[in-house]
Amino acid sequence: MSEKIKAYAAKEPKGKFELFEFDAGDIGKEEVEIKVAYGGLCHSDLSMLNNEWMMTKYPFVAGHEAVGEIVAVGENAKNVTVGDKVGLGWNAETCGHCEQCLSGFQINCPNLVGTIVGRFGGFAERVRCHWQWAVKLPEALDLQKAGPLFCGGITVFNPFVQLDVKPTDKVGIVGIGGLGHLALQFADCWGCEVTAFTSDLSKTDELKNLGADFVVNSRDDAEIEKLKGKYDLILSTVNVSLNWSAYLNALAPKGNLHIVGATLEPIPVQSFQLIGNQKSVSGTATGSPNVVAKMLEFCARHNIEAVTENYKMSQINEAFEHLESGKARYRIVLENDF
Ligand code: NAP
Ligand code: ZN
Repeated sequence: MSEKIKAYAAKEPKGKFELFEFDAGDIGKEEVEIKVAYGGLCHSDLSMLNNEWMMTKYPFVAGHEAVGEIVAVGENAKNVTVGDKVGLGWNAETCGHCEQCLSGFQINCPNLVGTIVGRFGGFAERVRCHWQWAVKLPEALDLQKAGPLFCGGITVFNPFVQLDVKPTDKVGIVGIGGLGHLALQFADCWGCEVTAFTSDLSKTDELKNLGADFVVNSRDDAEIEKLKGKYDLILSTVNVSLNWSAYLNALAPKGNLHIVGATLEPIPVQSFQLIGNQKSVSGTATGSPNVVAKMLEFCARHNIEAVTENYKMSQINEAFEHLESGKARYRIVLENDF
């Protein structure tokens, strides 16, 4: 049985999104179909639209922070069923039988398929994924604000789990946009001392309300120099080059400069900056389903939620322009109005 799904698609890099309908075909045995209620707009959607990472296929349907209700399940789908409220992030499918999948690190599966990489994403009436990647939403979470947790949120929550961050740690968050504003809340509720590094100091009061103890200009070398040796973790969410050497110097012994922002230029590292005090530079992509579920529980317990600006899905082009302007505070969410 074939099934038509309406979506918004761009035909070329930097193109405008237009109404588009595609035939989704039969649902796969392991797949589920989600009727999208809301979808967060991540900077990666914009990078994919513009083919910055050279892997976009057109027509391109963006959207990888989708929340809504399951409306169909394949015959072998488990754990979730019709009527469940779930979310879907960057990852739509993994093999389930490689060493990484079997150890609960699905995010490192060599056969991982991204929701908007060679597939149609969540700025659509409905979106499909493997049942493992449709993660149930705790009742306490507001559906309208939950979408951004599924890419932006998990991307900055996962490092706290993988790097075993301690409540006594001093943490710096660099770049306070969609990812960064959730990272401030996670770091604060984790118990850490939190510094927000931002290029826009007019946000200072808001960043303090989100959990920052200190706010520093991310582009002011002299200010960063004063913080030499301080941080156990500096988590970068920016997609631009900064003075990485200054940030490495700001790490405490055994400290970690952890990169989640997709900076295209190489990050220069001098060997002695790592050797001297056993420092590391590392990175992670989003997170595995078990960590997504842990994050959702953590958010429900600590009342963590995205600060959103709300658009209808039919205003998708306006929403992308607003993201590109750098003025979004802090995550744009599109409501399905098909
Ligand atoms: P966003 O909302 O646009 O936020 C990025 C922030 O970076 C901005 O709010 C700004 O913060 C800072 N920034 C931008 N231009 C700057 C400049 N010229 N100088 C200094 N700071 C600048 O983007 P996002 O959705 O949070 O995504 C951030 C990055 O993470 C993107 O590259 C995205 O592709 C990537 N990403 C990675 C993963 C992963 O799995 N690793 C997952 C999701 C997203 P201030 O105004 O505070 O300076
Ligand atoms: Zn994303």
